[in-house]
Amino acid sequence: MNQALSQPVTPRFTFDNSYARLPEVFYARIEPTPVAQPTLLRLNHSLASQLGLDVELLATDTGAQILAGNLIPPGAEPLAMAYAGHQYGQFVPSLGDGRAILLGELIDRDGIRRDLHLKGSGRTPFSRMGDGRAVLGPVLREYVLGEAMQGLGIPTTRALAMVATGEEVYRERIEPGAILVRVAAGHTRVGTFEYFARRDDREAVRHLADYVIARHYPACRDADRPYRALLEQVVQRQAELIARWMLVGFIHGVMNTDNTAISGETIDYGPCAFIDAFDPKAVYSSIDRFGRYAWDQQPSTGLWNLTQLANCLLPLLGEDEHAAQKSARAALDTYGNAFEQAYYGGLRAKIGLADARAGDDDLALDLLGRMAQQQADFTNTFRELCALSADDPSTDGPVRELFDDPGAFDDWAQQWRERLAVQTQPEAERQAAMRAVNPAYIPRNHRVQEAIDAAEQGDLAPLDRLLEVVSTPFDEHPDCIEYRRPPQPHEIIERTFCGT
Ligand code: AMP
Ligand code: MG
Repeated sequence: MNQALSQPVTPRFTFDNSYARLPEVFYARIEPTPVAQPTLLRLNHSLASQLGLDVELLATDTGAQILAGNLIPPGAEPLAMAYAGHQYGQFVPSLGDGRAILLGELIDRDGIRRDLHLKGSGRTPFSRMGDGRAVLGPVLREYVLGEAMQGLGIPTTRALAMVATGEEVYRERIEPGAILVRVAAGHTRVGTFEYFARRDDREAVRHLADYVIARHYPACRDADRPYRALLEQVVQRQAELIARWMLVGFIHGVMNTDNTAISGETIDYGPCAFIDAFDPKAVYSSIDRFGRYAWDQQPSTGLWNLTQLANCLLPLLGEDEHAAQKSARAALDTYGNAFEQAYYGGLRAKIGLADARAGDDDLALDLLGRMAQQQADFTNTFRELCALSADDPSTDGPVRELFDDPGAFDDWAQQWRERLAVQTQPEAERQAAMRAVNPAYIPRNHRVQEAIDAAEQGDLAPLDRLLEVVSTPFDEHPDCIEYRRPPQPHEIIERTFCGT
């Protein structure tokens, strides 16, 4: 008894590591490289309790040591996952976790298996020329963007914690080192399949497909053709995910196949951003010089990435090559419809249409076109639209003023009102429904940058304020109204960096 009491109390993790049970070709077993001086910067309390973890214990020094990778908790089986990927269309046969380590898997309160993953935890056999480290700015961005996405109800990986390492990391300048503790439904990527398919390791491709079916798509096991069903399910989830990004003006920025999660979660927040003034061609990534991953390119990029997955699965899809290709094609053909359902359904909801009628899609697209032409703020246009009265144009002021030429909105509003007149839904109900899909708050780029700049000076207050509004983005936060304001010209951030 006494002995037990005198032992340091360590947070308990109940690991069950399914990935570590896969054959050794799937990963390299490697422990995190300890860091000089771990300081817990932020702990995500609600996520910690969702995972059944003891928040108080995690917040101790021992907790910080664990979250930094300096202490390996009992039951963890650290490993770096192997994967390949198409980066900007170029195939790279071996990428893998070069600066990340999967500690293990936990079953959360809802019975869902979650990866516990450290990003910035030191070199691995996949590091190539990299230092295996991450820096505070991008770690903070990933923390905020993940919580914002979660608040928006869009599938995403999330940060459990953000830890300062006390080390300097060399990038374009010297930056403070940090580690992001990330939680995901799964880290298997399209690139994981590509890694084995390119090596012609069919057994591994099959094994991986069986693994993701069991973990993410168990219903496929009972389908007539389980692998075809798997492909269709991944296609469906990816189409929906991308539609939902589009509907909130999100640009992922690096939609490479190694950043495309089989689980259908948003993963690897690098040079990503939410649009302020609407521009369908918007790109923020400093390396995306040709706009490959611009806002309006995301739907077609998604299909391109899924086509790479389909290629990997071909040996599992049919008796012969012809049959397999036919099956893959049919599964990929479901993408367009899945995307359109989600996208146009979402647009209708954003403009308050309770059902679908001929002409609705055009009406919504017309608004987007005018917003783009008129530099209207994406988020605020839709949010302010919620409050407009269906039969009183004198309420239009807050939307009109977002358009360079307010007349461009007036023309549209007239058609919109004609359309609203056909539906019987009471006004208050429509407005509430619109407010539930049109966020008031997004993590605007200049606010994220402000939080990063302050954090680098040791001040986390701007981060906390930003997190508060973006994690409940559909609520009004009267005290934080300034977070709805688009950037002033001098505040605009044109480029973001992934910090690799
Ligand atoms: P990302 O751009 O973060 O999606 O990373 C693409 C690839 O580069 C992955 O294989 C990463 O593990 C690897 N990588 C990125 N940054 C580093 C780094 N600092 N050290 C080692 N590998 C890295
Ligand atoms: Mg990545």
